[in-house]
Amino acid sequence: MDVDLVVVGSGFFGLTVAERVATLHGRKVLVIDRRPHIGGNAYSEVEPTTGIEVHRYGAHLFHTSNERVWEYVNRFTAFTSYVHRVFTTHRGEVFGMPINLGTINQFFRSAHGPAAARALVREQAAELGGARPQNLDEQGVSLIGRPLYEAFIRGYTAKQWQTDPRDLPASIISRLPVRYTYDNRYFNDTHEGLPVDGYTAWLERMADHPNIEVRLGTDFFDESQPVSKGDVVGNVPVVYTGPVDRYFDHAEGDLSWRTLDFDQQVLDVGDFQGTSVMNYADEDVPFTRILEFRHFHPERDYPDDRTVVTREYSRFAEHGDEPYYPISTATDRERLLAYRDLAARERDVLFGGRLGTYRYLDMHMAIGSALSMVDNKLAPHFDGGAPLRSGGVDA
Ligand code: FAD
Ligand code: UDP
Repeated sequence: MDVDLVVVGSGFFGLTVAERVATLHGRKVLVIDRRPHIGGNAYSEVEPTTGIEVHRYGAHLFHTSNERVWEYVNRFTAFTSYVHRVFTTHRGEVFGMPINLGTINQFFRSAHGPAAARALVREQAAELGGARPQNLDEQGVSLIGRPLYEAFIRGYTAKQWQTDPRDLPASIISRLPVRYTYDNRYFNDTHEGLPVDGYTAWLERMADHPNIEVRLGTDFFDESQPVSKGDVVGNVPVVYTGPVDRYFDHAEGDLSWRTLDFDQQVLDVGDFQGTSVMNYADEDVPFTRILEFRHFHPERDYPDDRTVVTREYSRFAEHGDEPYYPISTATDRERLLAYRDLAARERDVLFGGRLGTYRYLDMHMAIGSALSMVDNKLAPHFDGGAPLRSGGVDA
């Protein structure tokens, strides 16, 4: 095989590795993906009857405070000035998310300033007696007190994870800021925006290099095609960004993932909900949120009599479903350690990305982690002939 590196998966992790190795090290890279399109979960496409850009795998908002990543991504795309704001419907009333002073005052029918709101929440969060939160349930109560937690977090989280919040890691919602100001921006990062020409144009530009070939519809585990695991591993270095348990034939047991079902509709109205993302906090509503894609690009000339909305439903992934979110129960974490040991023994195979490391990574984290893999492992290998040591799953 006349290539220097095979990258399995054309998501942001795989494309960043491929682009850097091709551009900086002048090496030939073959990127394969089992899907019929490039870009992994960040892929977007134009809904043909409206011209509206739809994120096929759920809303993708780019944000980062990592200056290296920001400089890197700006080589391939400019960003709009879009600022993400999320609202949530609870018992027929709409509130701002993340929980901020506006949410708190609306919920308690109060007019507290920051100090009074903090004191109120502190009092309501006191039931843990200062102990460190051990799980998502305790983390929620300690951050915002029980009433707010039960209104906005518990039902949504139960729908999204289908796991008792007491069995989920606290870290899932430490991502979610709580603010004692009226700032209702969803993200706190220095840089935020959407790619001006859409995600797919950005992803295609990353792969547009004479040293990079992309082969779609090609599953690494399909031994009937020429770039399969059996043919490649041991002969050509590999960066693998698919699910780590699948690579080892689930030998240590399945890692649990959550998948999403997307119900997309084109509606004959110019504006369905007045905002891009509306969460539904209550458990009796079966979907977690409704996305309305036109609102991601107010600068574009979209039709004013039609719109595209998607309802998002969450459930456990079975074999054959797309694995979207690592659930990371205690059993999963034990299994992951076993997979890391197996990965460390694999010759010339590096594991990366969200699926390859079984970690929730935002896009900027996937890109940052790929840049580090190039610095720390692939550059010494291609420039100095250093052996390609996997060092296990790149945790
Ligand atoms: P992926 O994009 O998953 O790419 C992995 C690729 O590997 C896939 O294309 C897959 O087909 C391929 N592959 C797997 N197995 C094989 C195989 N056997 N053979 C060949 N190819 C294979 N991030 C943000 O920053 N902001 C957001 O708002 C945001 N929202 C998200 C919403 C949802 C619903 C989801 C699921 C993710 C969201 N993310 C968001 C995260 C973002 O999608 C990831 O950070 C990014 O996709 C990670 O890139 P990756 O390359 O690691 O993985
Ligand atoms: N969350 C919640 N209510 C909301 C929004 C988020 O309880 O209205 C919790 C939920 O547990 C979710 C986590 O916060 O999994 C992270 O939310 P985010 O919107 O970042 O999730 P993602 O978009 O990545 O699925």
